[in-house]
Amino acid sequence: MPPVFRPEACPRCGTPFAFGYAVRRTATMPWTGRLMLTVSSTAALMLTALTFLLLAQLVWSLTEGTDLPYQDKGILFFFAYVLIGLPLSLAPAILGWRRAFGMPRVLWVRCPGPECGWVGKCRVLGEGKPAIPADEQ
Ligand SMILES: [Zn+2]
Repeated sequence: MPPVFRPEACPRCGTPFAFGYAVRRTATMPWTGRLMLTVSSTAALMLTALTFLLLAQLVWSLTEGTDLPYQDKGILFFFAYVLIGLPLSLAPAILGWRRAFGMPRVLWVRCPGPECGWVGKCRVLGEGKPAIPADEQ
């Protein structure tokens, strides 16, 4: 999918924007995307610890009173943590990562038109999966 620029052309002279990869790669993630990455990573770390403690309590209470050896309780806890705890705790990080990297990136550009000199902010969409499909804009 080719990159899409917003605005598509210079607002002053109307020269269409078509920046190469070397320029587009300098586009930065908006502050909301960085905030989303920070919050989702923090939530994932906290959920990792929380699910560890909760699943340990759950496995312990479910196997209390049985004559399972201590090692078997540990194996049960290991599988519960790998199959339930890790996916549950990594889900917010994965969702936040996908959302943040799907956002339009901010690019400061100078108009390529002759003798225009307009400098401004341009949004770059379309490298990677866009957060908003093109037909809804
Ligand atoms: Zn211009």
